[in-house]
Amino acid sequence: MSSELASDHIKKVYQSVKKRNPNEDEFHQAVEEFFNSIEPVFEQNPSYIEQGILERLVEPDRLITFSVPWVDDNGKVQVNRGFRVQFNSTIGPYKGGLRFHPSVNSSIIKFLGFEQIFKNALTGQPIGGGKGGSDFDPKGKSDLEIMRFCQSFMSELSKYIGPDIDVPAGDIGVGAREIGYLFGQYRKMRGSFHAGVLTGKSPDFGGSLARKEATGYGTVYFVNEMLKDRNLDLTGKKVIVSGSGNVSIYAMEKAIEYGAIIIACSDSSGYIYDPNGLDLNTIKEIKEVKRGRIHAYLEKYPNAKFEAESTAIWSLSCDIALPCATQNELDESAAKQLVKNGVVAIAEGANMPSTLDAIKVFHDNNVLFGPAKAANAGGVAVSALEMAQNSSRLSWSFEEVDQKLQDIMADIYNRCIEAAEQYNSPGNLVVGANIAGLLRVAEGMITQGVI
Ligand code: NDP
Repeated sequence: MSSELASDHIKKVYQSVKKRNPNEDEFHQAVEEFFNSIEPVFEQNPSYIEQGILERLVEPDRLITFSVPWVDDNGKVQVNRGFRVQFNSTIGPYKGGLRFHPSVNSSIIKFLGFEQIFKNALTGQPIGGGKGGSDFDPKGKSDLEIMRFCQSFMSELSKYIGPDIDVPAGDIGVGAREIGYLFGQYRKMRGSFHAGVLTGKSPDFGGSLARKEATGYGTVYFVNEMLKDRNLDLTGKKVIVSGSGNVSIYAMEKAIEYGAIIIACSDSSGYIYDPNGLDLNTIKEIKEVKRGRIHAYLEKYPNAKFEAESTAIWSLSCDIALPCATQNELDESAAKQLVKNGVVAIAEGANMPSTLDAIKVFHDNNVLFGPAKAANAGGVAVSALEMAQNSSRLSWSFEEVDQKLQDIMADIYNRCIEAAEQYNSPGNLVVGANIAGLLRVAEGMITQGVI
């Protein structure tokens, strides 16, 4: 097929996505980023147009929204909105995390669910794409409020999920504590123990060892693969990591293990900076144990600096930047600043943290760039390993899971490199990730027929 026909088709589908999903900027952005990569696939596979592959991919199988009423500590009833998008289950049960954050809306959930389809396909594991969450803000809530909210949320969500149907996990604002409450409520409602209905559980009741670490570690394994291609490694490299949650903390841990120096990290209140390297144990104590704010770091290290604007973190000079907080946290001007300061590699621990313009700046300047779909796929890959352990009633050692994670990240990297090469964009991991993910799902859709 001519490149013109392929491009016209893609443009038409994109226009219809914008029309049918008005005011959903994040969803449009995720679709646009994906569509920008895939023209050569349509040139080589004209049947994809006839098969309506794109039209089917951009329309979720279903989007469920529900009311989540709960009682706060003052006895007052509060109501939040819950979401679950079940996007595509061609290659396995819907799989993707739950996000509890006041910014959550259908656009955010749909962008996350859409990207999850291709990320999950890239892992090589049998998992489809889904995502969910609520506009509930866990900040400042008591433990009992969190528990009551999770119970109410699961009372409704439980109707739509199951180990072979849809398997949620954590995301922003949902960690081991929330997964525990959600799992307890599901178990109680079903009257049976379906370990495989959620991943990210405590290892005491079916959780996989190394799941907590998997996304952050996986991102750094991916960075290692990128650096190897330029005969570089992490030893002595200055690294900036945004955020200080689950992904950031374990990205920092693995980078430090490889000899890197973490000079800055952040939360939504600002960033901390120490050119000599931050102390990760103190950060863990503040964020994981006390659930505090990042500036508390200065109580122990008064010589470190705190700046009350989290996105200004990208103005610091570094070798490697790992955006691990949230979407669109790294824009064009931040990208230009990083390039000016000599950055060598970027890998996205967060989902869609770089704007489209920022990605262009990195590509134009030959900066190594690992997109989220590939670089942060380690979390969901180990979730799939958790599902496998649950099905077989086995639990693997930390080392076993970690080794599998390393192998999976190397495979993902190679898949991206090969697809980029094959479709005339050598070295472009964005194109490689999008195409390799698309091909696996599209072939499955064609083989299974239109249903
Ligand atoms: P956490 O809730 O554990 O941590 C999120 C971190 O990002 C916190 O430090 C938080 O700061 C900061 N943050 C959140 N929103 C904003 C904002 N609007 N501006 C600035 N900082 C912000 O979440 P995770 O670490 O699990 O998730 C981080 C990112 O990684 C997300 O994009 C998520 O989708 C992605 N991801 C997570 C996976 C996982 O396994 N958990 C898997 C793959 C991707 P504060 O505490 O102040 O809110």
